[in-house]
Amino acid sequence: MNRVKKISIIAILFFGIGGCLGFGWYWHKTPKMVIPKIDLKYLEGKENIVPILVLGSGPASLAAALYGSRAGIRTLVLRGNKAGGQLMTTSYIENWPAIKKIRGPEVMNDFDDQVSHFGAVMVGDALSSIDFSQWPYKVTTEEGHVLYAMSVMVGTGATPRKLNIPGEDEYWGHGVTTCAICDAPYHKGDSVVVIGGGDSAMEEALELSPYAKHVHVLVRSSELRASVSMIERVKQCINVEIHFNAALSEIKGDGGHVTQVIVKNTKTGELTPWPIQGVFLAIGHTPNTALFNGVLDADKEGFLKVTPYHQTTNWPGVVAAGDVSDPYYRQAGVAAGDGIKAGLDLVWWLSSIGYNSTVQEKLEPFFFDPKAVQKKKLEEINSNADYRELIKTAKESIIVIDFFTPYCPSCLQMLPLLEWAAAKLNGQVRFCKVDASLAYDLVKKFKVTDVPFMIIIKEGQIVDRIKETMSRGDLYSYLKKLLV
Ligand code: NDP
Repeated sequence: MNRVKKISIIAILFFGIGGCLGFGWYWHKTPKMVIPKIDLKYLEGKENIVPILVLGSGPASLAAALYGSRAGIRTLVLRGNKAGGQLMTTSYIENWPAIKKIRGPEVMNDFDDQVSHFGAVMVGDALSSIDFSQWPYKVTTEEGHVLYAMSVMVGTGATPRKLNIPGEDEYWGHGVTTCAICDAPYHKGDSVVVIGGGDSAMEEALELSPYAKHVHVLVRSSELRASVSMIERVKQCINVEIHFNAALSEIKGDGGHVTQVIVKNTKTGELTPWPIQGVFLAIGHTPNTALFNGVLDADKEGFLKVTPYHQTTNWPGVVAAGDVSDPYYRQAGVAAGDGIKAGLDLVWWLSSIGYNSTVQEKLEPFFFDPKAVQKKKLEEINSNADYRELIKTAKESIIVIDFFTPYCPSCLQMLPLLEWAAAKLNGQVRFCKVDASLAYDLVKKFKVTDVPFMIIIKEGQIVDRIKETMSRGDLYSYLKKLLV
């Protein structure tokens, strides 16, 4: 055998065995799920079936729900704990196709109406866990419902990033926040800093400018990422100043509220203390994908991977769209467009496994019925006299008083959770709400500086003051612990 032949045989053996081992390893490591042609026997004994389950209620989720429900397929939207998504905390949008200028919450309210009009069912509940190892996929919600989803659209969005610097957690909700639209009115005459150089930072600065004395935008690099139109609008505000090569290295306060920040010159390393009363973070977002780890393929930052030209994930009958799967564009319009693709992908997929109107008719009695989800309206109190009466007459050992304003999106997202908890803990915990924009004497009495804000009273004594929003699960277990 000549030398060339010998080398060729060794190479064939080497790559052949290597290839087989590699493929075996990949096959072993890759999670597999094969969905058979639909057969009602897979759905036997399953109450709470959901043909299309949409997780989230931002533009991507609602667009997918629109296409699912409009195709006549029973579609359920689990709205999540931040109903409406990030547009609810956006002031005006100027790039929603075909509309010159519109408020973010208005877009989402219209979207809600449109989707409901086509029969999608909207539920004020959130995903707690999902088991992808069985089909239909077993889904547990924060309210404790168990649903069986035949297909799933993941539109869980993204969460604002934090800086992870000293003082940030300590003063979170005490001057440090990500929502100028909520807290700008509490900063009349203050000096505040906005961190970031993107459109979100420009938006925060525009929101703060009518209230604060000085708005300092700190940009860690020497350039802005924001769009020209947003930069132009900011330049017109005389009290907004943009500082380049400036980062925050520490947040300090008096134990109750922010009073100072330490600003670092990123070129020279020089640290300078600034007297500041508010810190607004606008440094991007992290995708909310923790509940899908290990099953749905994601990139190193956690963004879900979808197939080119489609929104399908690596798992059958599971699609993703919006900020959860978009590391590049992160625009509401793009999210809505991708949501449409995702909705269509699910309609086609369900059809491919044999789902049709006859199957839907047979399954109808086993569909999840959200009417079973109970809520209780919160009692309103508006004055010191109402408060005194409440303390005198309450039979429950615990009272929760929630301060909100009608223009604060996170307050409006928190209220349905409290209504749910009020129904769940009826007779044990009394829930009241106070409109902080009207009830000045109560705001003064309880020194409310940010909303949402909760006062917890146990046996007539204030035992806690909660300044941040809570998830449904955290709120429930917190109150259950307090009841012991
Ligand atoms: P971006 O990713 O566009 O900008 C984030 C900014 O934060 C950048 O300036 C970045 O700096 C900075 N940053 C990131 N991490 C840190 C850190 N640890 N410390 C200091 N600075 C940091 O995010 P946005 O949320 O602003 O925007 C996301 C998308 O949403 C964009 O596509 C935007 O156009 C869109 N959007 C549109 C709006 C509208 O049209 N009305 C409103 C808001 C958002 P660096 O550049 O150095 O990385």
